[in-house]
Amino acid sequence: MRSGNEPDSPAQPDITSLIPLVRRVVGARVHEATVAEDLVQETLTRVLATAPRVEPGLLESYAIVTARNVVSSLWREQDRHRRNQHRVVDLRPPDPPDTDLLASEEQGAVTRALAQLSERERHLLLAHEVNGRDTRSLAGEQGSTAGAVAAQLNRIRARLRVEYLLALDNAEPPTDRCRPVLLALSGGDRRRQREVDAGRHLLECELCARLSSPLLERGRQGRDDEVCIPIHSDGDIVAARQAARELAARLGFSRTDLTLIATAVSEVARNIVRFAEAGEVVVELLERPRPGVRVVARDTGPGIADVEQAMRDGYSTYHGLGLGLPGARRLMDEFAVASELGRGTTVTMTKWRRR
Ligand SMILES: [Zn+2]
Repeated sequence: MRSGNEPDSPAQPDITSLIPLVRRVVGARVHEATVAEDLVQETLTRVLATAPRVEPGLLESYAIVTARNVVSSLWREQDRHRRNQHRVVDLRPPDPPDTDLLASEEQGAVTRALAQLSERERHLLLAHEVNGRDTRSLAGEQGSTAGAVAAQLNRIRARLRVEYLLALDNAEPPTDRCRPVLLALSGGDRRRQREVDAGRHLLECELCARLSSPLLERGRQGRDDEVCIPIHSDGDIVAARQAARELAARLGFSRTDLTLIATAVSEVARNIVRFAEAGEVVVELLERPRPGVRVVARDTGPGIADVEQAMRDGYSTYHGLGLGLPGARRLMDEFAVASELGRGTTVTMTKWRRR
């Protein structure tokens, strides 16, 4: 996008320089070489996947705590395995399945997390997520723009994720720096991460180190109704389009609608490659208020100076094929752009399945 500002240069993170560090952290805990190498690769994969949401100065710290998390989840896994083996040998009746308990714990955590939001935040979130009010009509009510409402919703969701994980963990943050750090991670706000010195805090605070992975690796937590595709190159545009199409197909969208969704995803992903160099596309299936697919395309590029102008038909920021943002808007049911100069752009768009 056009901008008078210097781009924030979201360069590709130099993952190779992290390898010796990650090897050291893993090697100190795991001695079997092949297992250690697997864990090193798993760590690098995770760090790479979150790179668009992490400010470059934070990468080392994040790699260290991720390596620790990866190792301890291996230990937990082995523990469970041992206990289960024991149980088989014991011939005791197995414990009742704890899935109900798990579900009610999660439900309780959601309730407690919602209670942490302000009345206004809760109202906005529920109006959108539960009652299906679109960003445009909510903007009318607030006297603001759809883009501003979408940005607000993203901030509220980022907060809700933090409060949810804290509630699930039954943890009260040990320092007053914890919440600001967790919020900066959850929102993928690289400038805020720098301001609150998230890198140092992660190394000092066990709780935040533990929660950093689920906050940053959204879409990698075994959720099969959400994918997150880092966008750096043209190849990633194709990957984003295919992922969106495959995910949406599961909801029974018509072939025509699948093509429209995939095309809109291509356009927003292409925008990232052309103007911001790096970012991500998150595709998420929605159940309520009716089946749909939400796409959030986020970058840390230079931002758009004049969103209204950029959304006008015929306004083209580059020559060649492509529908641009106005085209993507026509293909989807809901569409909102939030952009800040020097900080980046977030496009949020939704398509509902027709009856
Ligand atoms: Zn902390």
